[in-house]
Amino acid sequence: MRLARAYDSADPAEAAFRRVMTAAGKFWVCKRAMTHIAEALECLGGAGYVEESPMPRLYREAPVNSVWEGSGNVVCLDVLRARGKDEQAFGPVLAEIGLARGQDRRLDAYVDTLERELRPSTPADVEVSARRLVEKLVLALQAALLVRVSPTAVADAFISSRIAGDWGHVLGTLPPNTEFPAIIDRARG
Ligand SMILES: Cc1cc2nc3c(=O)[nH]c(=O)nc-3n(C[C@H](O)[C@H](O)[C@H](O)COP(=O)(O)OP(=O)(O)OC[C@H]3O[C@@H](n4cnc5c(N)ncnc54)[C@H](O)[C@@H]3O)c2cc1C
Repeated sequence: MRLARAYDSADPAEAAFRRVMTAAGKFWVCKRAMTHIAEALECLGGAGYVEESPMPRLYREAPVNSVWEGSGNVVCLDVLRARGKDEQAFGPVLAEIGLARGQDRRLDAYVDTLERELRPSTPADVEVSARRLVEKLVLALQAALLVRVSPTAVADAFISSRIAGDWGHVLGTLPPNTEFPAIIDRARG
Protein backbone atom coordinates (compact mmCIF):
# COMPACT_ATOMS: atom_id res chain seq x y z
CA MET A 1 0.00 0.00 0.00
CA ARG A 2 2.91 2.33 0.72
CA LEU A 3 4.38 1.64 -2.70
CA ALA A 4 0.99 2.16 -4.36
CA ARG A 5 0.76 5.55 -2.67
CA ALA A 6 4.09 6.53 -4.24
CA TYR A 7 2.46 6.12 -7.66
CA ASP A 8 -0.12 8.78 -6.80
CA SER A 9 2.51 11.47 -6.20
CA ALA A 10 4.44 13.86 -8.44
CA ASP A 11 7.07 14.40 -5.72
CA PRO A 12 10.57 13.45 -7.04
CA ALA A 13 11.31 11.69 -3.74
CA GLU A 14 8.26 9.47 -4.28
CA ALA A 15 9.44 8.80 -7.84
CA ALA A 16 12.80 7.67 -6.44
CA PHE A 17 11.00 5.56 -3.83
CA ARG A 18 8.99 3.73 -6.46
CA ARG A 19 12.01 3.36 -8.77
CA VAL A 20 13.71 1.24 -6.09
CA MET A 21 10.79 -0.40 -4.33
CA THR A 22 8.84 -1.55 -7.39
CA ALA A 23 11.69 -3.85 -8.41
CA ALA A 24 12.55 -4.80 -4.81
CA GLY A 25 8.91 -5.53 -4.02
CA LYS A 26 8.51 -7.58 -7.19
CA PHE A 27 11.46 -9.77 -6.20
CA TRP A 28 10.21 -10.24 -2.66
CA VAL A 29 6.52 -10.86 -3.33
CA CYS A 30 7.36 -13.45 -6.00
CA LYS A 31 9.75 -15.27 -3.66
CA ARG A 32 7.34 -15.19 -0.72
CA ALA A 33 4.44 -16.36 -2.87
CA MET A 34 6.02 -19.78 -3.41
CA THR A 35 6.52 -20.40 0.30
CA HIS A 36 3.11 -19.01 1.16
CA ILE A 37 1.24 -21.07 -1.42
CA ALA A 38 3.08 -24.29 -0.50
CA GLU A 39 2.11 -23.76 3.13
CA ALA A 40 -1.49 -22.90 2.23
CA LEU A 41 -1.71 -26.13 0.22
CA GLU A 42 -0.39 -28.10 3.20
CA CYS A 43 -2.96 -26.47 5.51
CA LEU A 44 -5.70 -27.95 3.32
CA GLY A 45 -4.12 -31.42 3.41
CA GLY A 46 -5.00 -33.78 0.57
CA ALA A 47 -7.85 -31.46 -0.45
CA GLY A 48 -5.21 -28.87 -1.33
CA TYR A 49 -3.35 -31.34 -3.54
CA VAL A 50 -6.12 -32.77 -5.70
CA GLU A 51 -6.93 -31.02 -8.96
CA GLU A 52 -10.54 -30.28 -7.93
CA SER A 53 -9.31 -27.31 -5.88
CA PRO A 54 -7.55 -24.19 -7.23
CA MET A 55 -4.49 -24.84 -5.05
CA PRO A 56 -2.53 -27.13 -7.43
CA ARG A 57 -2.71 -24.51 -10.15
CA LEU A 58 -1.46 -21.78 -7.79
CA TYR A 59 1.33 -24.07 -6.59
CA ARG A 60 2.35 -24.97 -10.12
CA GLU A 61 2.19 -21.43 -11.46
CA ALA A 62 3.77 -19.52 -8.58
CA PRO A 63 7.41 -19.98 -9.67
CA VAL A 64 6.83 -18.32 -13.04
CA ASN A 65 6.35 -15.01 -11.28
CA SER A 66 10.08 -15.06 -10.54
CA VAL A 67 10.82 -15.55 -14.25
CA TRP A 68 8.59 -13.27 -16.30
CA GLU A 69 8.31 -9.49 -16.07
CA GLY A 70 11.76 -9.42 -14.47
CA SER A 71 13.45 -12.56 -13.16
CA GLY A 72 14.75 -12.69 -9.57
CA ASN A 73 18.40 -11.90 -10.17
CA VAL A 74 17.66 -9.37 -12.85
CA VAL A 75 15.28 -7.29 -10.70
CA CYS A 76 17.78 -7.34 -7.83
CA LEU A 77 20.51 -6.09 -10.12
CA ASP A 78 18.06 -3.47 -11.35
CA VAL A 79 17.53 -2.21 -7.80
CA LEU A 80 21.27 -1.77 -7.36
CA ARG A 81 21.62 -0.28 -10.82
CA ALA A 82 19.50 2.64 -9.58
CA ARG A 83 22.35 3.46 -7.22
CA GLY A 84 24.87 3.27 -10.06
CA LYS A 85 23.05 6.13 -11.77
CA ASP A 86 22.41 8.17 -8.62
CA GLU A 87 24.33 7.69 -5.37
CA GLN A 88 21.33 9.01 -3.45
CA ALA A 89 18.89 6.60 -5.10
CA PHE A 90 18.16 4.83 -1.82
CA GLY A 91 17.74 8.10 0.09
CA PRO A 92 13.92 8.27 -0.01
CA VAL A 93 13.55 4.60 0.97
CA LEU A 94 16.02 4.98 3.83
CA ALA A 95 14.23 8.16 4.89
CA GLU A 96 10.95 6.23 5.06
CA ILE A 97 12.63 3.48 7.07
CA GLY A 98 14.17 6.17 9.28
CA LEU A 99 10.72 7.37 10.36
CA ALA A 100 10.63 4.33 12.67
CA ARG A 101 14.05 5.01 14.20
CA GLY A 102 14.12 4.90 17.99
CA GLN A 103 11.07 2.67 18.32
CA ASP A 104 12.84 -0.70 18.37
CA ARG A 105 16.53 -1.24 19.08
CA ARG A 106 16.67 -4.45 17.05
CA LEU A 107 15.35 -2.64 13.99
CA ASP A 108 17.70 0.31 14.52
CA ALA A 109 20.72 -2.03 14.61
CA TYR A 110 19.50 -3.85 11.49
CA VAL A 111 19.10 -0.57 9.61
CA ASP A 112 22.58 0.58 10.67
CA THR A 113 24.01 -2.59 9.11
CA LEU A 114 21.88 -2.20 6.01
CA GLU A 115 23.03 1.39 5.48
CA ARG A 116 26.66 0.28 5.72
CA GLU A 117 26.13 -2.58 3.28
CA LEU A 118 24.30 -0.36 0.81
CA ARG A 119 27.33 1.86 0.29
CA PRO A 120 28.68 1.44 -3.25
CA SER A 121 31.23 -1.34 -3.68
CA THR A 122 32.94 -3.01 -6.62
CA PRO A 123 30.81 -4.34 -9.51
CA ALA A 124 31.70 -7.93 -8.52
CA ASP A 125 30.47 -7.30 -4.97
CA VAL A 126 27.27 -5.82 -6.31
CA GLU A 127 26.43 -9.01 -8.21
CA VAL A 128 27.22 -11.27 -5.28
CA SER A 129 25.29 -9.19 -2.77
CA ALA A 130 22.29 -8.15 -4.91
CA ARG A 131 19.77 -10.60 -3.44
CA ARG A 132 21.08 -10.12 0.09
CA LEU A 133 20.79 -6.33 -0.06
CA VAL A 134 17.36 -6.32 -1.67
CA GLU A 135 16.03 -8.80 0.89
CA LYS A 136 17.39 -6.69 3.73
CA LEU A 137 16.00 -3.50 2.23
CA VAL A 138 12.52 -5.00 1.89
CA LEU A 139 12.54 -6.47 5.40
CA ALA A 140 13.70 -3.17 6.90
CA LEU A 141 10.94 -1.25 5.13
CA GLN A 142 8.30 -3.81 6.10
CA ALA A 143 9.42 -3.72 9.72
CA ALA A 144 9.55 0.07 9.80
CA LEU A 145 6.04 0.35 8.38
CA LEU A 146 4.70 -2.25 10.80
CA VAL A 147 6.24 -0.44 13.77
CA ARG A 148 4.44 2.72 12.70
CA VAL A 149 1.06 1.42 11.59
CA SER A 150 0.34 -2.04 13.01
CA PRO A 151 -0.55 -3.33 16.48
CA THR A 152 2.48 -4.06 18.69
CA ALA A 153 1.88 -7.83 18.55
CA VAL A 154 2.28 -7.85 14.76
CA ALA A 155 5.32 -5.58 14.61
CA ASP A 156 7.00 -7.42 17.47
CA ALA A 157 6.50 -10.87 15.91
CA PHE A 158 7.84 -9.60 12.59
CA ILE A 159 10.90 -7.97 14.14
CA SER A 160 11.64 -10.92 16.46
CA SER A 161 11.62 -13.33 13.53
CA ARG A 162 12.59 -11.50 10.34
CA ILE A 163 14.90 -8.88 11.83
CA ALA A 164 16.26 -10.49 15.01
CA GLY A 165 16.31 -14.03 13.59
CA ASP A 166 14.26 -15.71 16.34
CA TRP A 167 12.67 -18.33 14.10
CA GLY A 168 13.63 -21.39 12.08
CA HIS A 169 13.89 -22.06 8.37
CA VAL A 170 10.25 -22.99 7.82
CA LEU A 171 6.94 -21.32 8.62
CA GLY A 172 5.41 -22.17 12.00
CA THR A 173 8.59 -21.54 13.98
CA LEU A 174 7.82 -18.23 15.67
CA PRO A 175 8.78 -18.05 19.35
CA PRO A 176 6.12 -19.50 21.72
CA ASN A 177 5.53 -16.15 23.45
CA THR A 178 4.26 -14.64 20.17
CA GLU A 179 0.80 -13.10 20.58
CA PHE A 180 -0.85 -15.45 18.08
CA PRO A 181 -4.53 -14.66 18.92
CA ALA A 182 -3.99 -10.92 18.37
CA ILE A 183 -2.17 -11.52 15.07
CA ILE A 184 -4.79 -13.97 13.80
CA ASP A 185 -7.68 -11.70 14.84
CA ARG A 186 -6.12 -8.82 12.91
CA ALA A 187 -5.63 -11.00 9.81
CA ARG A 188 -9.30 -12.04 9.97
CA GLY A 189 -10.21 -8.34 9.96
C1 LIG B 1 4.77 -18.30 -19.18
C2 LIG B 1 5.61 -17.21 -19.80
C3 LIG B 1 4.99 -16.20 -20.52
C4 LIG B 1 5.76 -15.18 -21.09
N1 LIG B 1 5.11 -14.20 -21.79
C5 LIG B 1 5.84 -13.25 -22.40
C6 LIG B 1 5.19 -12.22 -23.19
O1 LIG B 1 3.97 -12.17 -23.27
N2 LIG B 1 5.97 -11.30 -23.79
C7 LIG B 1 7.34 -11.33 -23.70
O2 LIG B 1 8.00 -10.48 -24.29
N3 LIG B 1 7.95 -12.28 -22.96
C8 LIG B 1 7.25 -13.24 -22.33
N4 LIG B 1 7.89 -14.22 -21.60
C9 LIG B 1 9.36 -14.23 -21.56
C10 LIG B 1 9.91 -13.73 -20.26
O3 LIG B 1 9.91 -12.34 -20.19
C11 LIG B 1 11.34 -14.31 -20.13
O4 LIG B 1 11.18 -15.70 -19.86
C12 LIG B 1 12.11 -13.63 -19.01
O5 LIG B 1 12.48 -12.32 -19.39
C13 LIG B 1 13.40 -14.39 -18.67
O6 LIG B 1 14.17 -14.56 -19.82
P1 LIG B 1 14.67 -16.02 -20.23
O7 LIG B 1 13.52 -16.98 -20.18
O8 LIG B 1 15.40 -15.86 -21.52
O9 LIG B 1 15.67 -16.44 -19.10
P2 LIG B 1 17.18 -15.96 -18.95
O10 LIG B 1 17.31 -14.50 -19.24
O11 LIG B 1 18.05 -16.92 -19.67
O12 LIG B 1 17.36 -16.15 -17.39
C14 LIG B 1 17.52 -17.43 -16.79
C15 LIG B 1 17.99 -17.22 -15.36
O13 LIG B 1 19.22 -16.52 -15.35
C16 LIG B 1 19.14 -15.38 -14.50
N5 LIG B 1 19.90 -14.28 -15.09
C17 LIG B 1 19.74 -13.70 -16.29
N6 LIG B 1 20.62 -12.70 -16.47
C18 LIG B 1 21.37 -12.64 -15.34
C19 LIG B 1 22.44 -11.81 -14.91
N7 LIG B 1 22.94 -10.84 -15.67
N8 LIG B 1 22.95 -12.04 -13.67
C20 LIG B 1 22.46 -13.01 -12.89
N9 LIG B 1 21.46 -13.83 -13.24
C21 LIG B 1 20.91 -13.65 -14.45
C22 LIG B 1 17.66 -15.01 -14.43
O14 LIG B 1 17.36 -14.37 -13.20
C23 LIG B 1 16.99 -16.38 -14.55
O15 LIG B 1 16.84 -16.94 -13.29
C24 LIG B 1 7.15 -15.20 -20.98
C25 LIG B 1 7.77 -16.21 -20.22
C26 LIG B 1 7.02 -17.21 -19.63
C27 LIG B 1 7.70 -18.28 -18.84
